[in-house]
Amino acid sequence: MGSSQGGFTPLSRLTFGTHGRRMRVRVRVSRIWVASNPNSGEEYGLDSLLIDDEGATMQARAYPRDMKRLKNLLIEGKVYALLNFTVRRKMYSYMACRNDLMIYMGGQTVVDEISDDICSSIPLHSFEFVDFGDVPFRDKDNSLFTDVIGQIVSIEEVGQAWKWDTWRNISFRNLHTAGRQLNIALYEDLGRNFDAEQVIKQGQQVSIVAVFTGMIVQLYKGIGFTVRSTTASKYYLDLDILEVQELRASLADQHKPIDRLPCQLQNPVNLTELVKSRRTIEQLKSLNPDELHWGTIFLCTVTLKGINCTKDWWYKGCFHCEWPISWDGSKPFCIKGCPNNALPVLLYKLDAVMEDTTGAMNIMIFGKQAEVLVGLSADKLVGEITGEQISAVISSHQSRALVVGPHRGGFVVAGVPNDDDAC
Ligand SMILES: [Zn+2]
Repeated sequence: MGSSQGGFTPLSRLTFGTHGRRMRVRVRVSRIWVASNPNSGEEYGLDSLLIDDEGATMQARAYPRDMKRLKNLLIEGKVYALLNFTVRRKMYSYMACRNDLMIYMGGQTVVDEISDDICSSIPLHSFEFVDFGDVPFRDKDNSLFTDVIGQIVSIEEVGQAWKWDTWRNISFRNLHTAGRQLNIALYEDLGRNFDAEQVIKQGQQVSIVAVFTGMIVQLYKGIGFTVRSTTASKYYLDLDILEVQELRASLADQHKPIDRLPCQLQNPVNLTELVKSRRTIEQLKSLNPDELHWGTIFLCTVTLKGINCTKDWWYKGCFHCEWPISWDGSKPFCIKGCPNNALPVLLYKLDAVMEDTTGAMNIMIFGKQAEVLVGLSADKLVGEITGEQISAVISSHQSRALVVGPHRGGFVVAGVPNDDDAC
């Protein structure tokens, strides 16, 4: 086995398997984070991005049972010798670097801190920068985190948005960077703790260049493609790296103070108001959907009585925004103007009937909402099962809470709360 100075194996020469004392790496912990699902709170492990003497990168993970010990041992930015670890294939999603392998640290893994004096040549940071123009290509692609660099031009106040699947409001802060303008959304603590006052103050004199790392791309209604934070996300202001210096040099005479903006698109739900918005089907029927404001929602507890099987229960929609696609003679295009970089997807369009003790009425159920009720995505079922079978699945549910809103003269399911949380 080849090794570099000091008997350390370069990350580029690691091989599959569990390595005992024969293989030792010397790495800087560039970033460290607890990989978790922000909705459920479930923790998957302690992840880190490692960099070695050659500048090679590799992600590492410690499983939850070993997290506590390793959290105490590993400090972001420091250099360690690691011994007794396992090398496996990379994960399919949420990778911070392009290496096909990753390190798993366990209870047996030996972690020894090495003085930075002898390893100062190991870089502190490594990023996988994506050009602003390529951000839409990363939409729904979570295989690799998206890192971006840009000059901050405006900062919004903290806003709130409602999450149906967790039945709560979450906070976020939007920032905008220059160039081809890019939206950045920082969620929860990352957004709340962002020192907007300080950044705006500093930004009066000089341009502020920010690096956002560990992000993913998502299309938001009314905002557009947005680089949003995850539990792996961090940001760095005016980092001393080549890319920041280059961007700063290119901005030399274009300094403009940073704008402070109100949150431009808030979408909070007041739980008490929502419960007050409970309606029976009889009450819904007495309303004229065309006279309701966009965004009006009602809560109803209903059973679904199946779908109209004489109509298609699916449609071809835009990969990004799920609006219907059209055809320009040679290729499909999104009627909302999304980039044409992904094939259309098959999505649900269920013309269903819902019922409670006061009556029954038609309700449209599209895309993700239908997916929650059916349990599988439409693209897995089109061609495999019939509308009658979809209808049977839909009507097999007990009565449940649905959030409905006005849609083209009728009503549409706007949210499917978790069964457990529905009040
Ligand atoms: Zn679209």
